[in-house]
Amino acid sequence: MTTPDGQKPIAFLDLPAQQRRLGAPLKQRIDTVLEHCRFVLGPEVTELEERLAAWSGVGHCVGVSSGTDALQIVMMAENIGPGDAVFLPAFTYTATAEVPLVLGATPVFVDVDPATFQIDPASLRERIEKVRRDGKLKPRAIVGVDLFGQPAPWDVLREIASDYGLFLMDDCAQSFGGAYHGRNLGAEAVATTLSFFPSKPLGGYGDGGAILTDDAERAELYRSLRTHGEGKTRYQVLRTGMNGRLDTLQAAVLLAKLDVFREELARRDAIADAYDAGLKDVVAVPARVPDSASAWAIYAVLLKDSAERSATQERLTAAGVPSAIYYPLPLHHQPAYRDHHDGVALPVSESLAQRILALPIHPELTDAEVARVIAAMRG
Ligand SMILES: *Cc1c(COP(=O)(O)O)cnc(C)c1O
Repeated sequence: MTTPDGQKPIAFLDLPAQQRRLGAPLKQRIDTVLEHCRFVLGPEVTELEERLAAWSGVGHCVGVSSGTDALQIVMMAENIGPGDAVFLPAFTYTATAEVPLVLGATPVFVDVDPATFQIDPASLRERIEKVRRDGKLKPRAIVGVDLFGQPAPWDVLREIASDYGLFLMDDCAQSFGGAYHGRNLGAEAVATTLSFFPSKPLGGYGDGGAILTDDAERAELYRSLRTHGEGKTRYQVLRTGMNGRLDTLQAAVLLAKLDVFREELARRDAIADAYDAGLKDVVAVPARVPDSASAWAIYAVLLKDSAERSATQERLTAAGVPSAIYYPLPLHHQPAYRDHHDGVALPVSESLAQRILALPIHPELTDAEVARVIAAMRG
């Protein structure tokens, strides 16, 4: 397939090219697992856990089966369940809201900042106060989401969690590789969850995730929960858990990816800078969270309204430039969640869903392709 002027369409995510770039070290890592056959919790899982904990400067990392299961294990460890309110942004991926519901708890949706798209502390305080006034649910936890690669406002979130006595966790599925106040993300909350879904900045070749924490007791609980609630010996069952382990083959892939992760992050950053420079006079380019570094999971611009967004997307498609909408609906308007919402308007999340558009940003993009994206955007 080619565009009218004979150019190959650009990929939104280019896993074949990524594999070619990773080359022999990736194959070597996989072959090693095929040789030792320790497919469940093999040595690569431990090696990866150690490297991720060191990256974030925390004491413990527990490899799990996905970012969603990471969220679930952390909430199970806090005994979050029926009657509990879990505060989270309305503008995020579905998994953040799905997990409290799976555990019988209630997600309480919070609005986001119109410039950075991160959870809005003023809205968070209002939502907590309202749950307290209504008196039906017990405020239990805040899930700060590091959206699109950038950090949530962690200093304020810690203050609010402490003011109300709430458990604070970081859904960092999109943003491992980012930093805040000069410190790599992963140490901002009591527990931080990661996803290694292939499209995330540190993506594997299948599902995978991890939990980071500095708390040794919680880390032990997470290890128990990921293996059916087992105790020190295999057939001692201490609590209800799940089968939530990180696969050894995924850990092997991720170790190869981690070796080139810093270079990949630098390339994503350079592409974001080029987009900013080429587009800032025609669309609203993403606002940078002050004193932070983004992992650039997603580079999202804002159009005036949904009509302008549709027209832009059509023009990009015709030029062989892919784009995507994260997220077309705020979570409190999703069929699965709207009945759990108290009906309060969350105007920023609602407006972003109409206007946001993500452009391709991945290490395989060439400078020529970046120039093509900019030219197509400028029309
Ligand atoms: C991707 C993602 C998840 C879920 O991760 P999986 O590994 O796909 O289960 C959770 N939260 C956010 C914000 C995500 O982007």
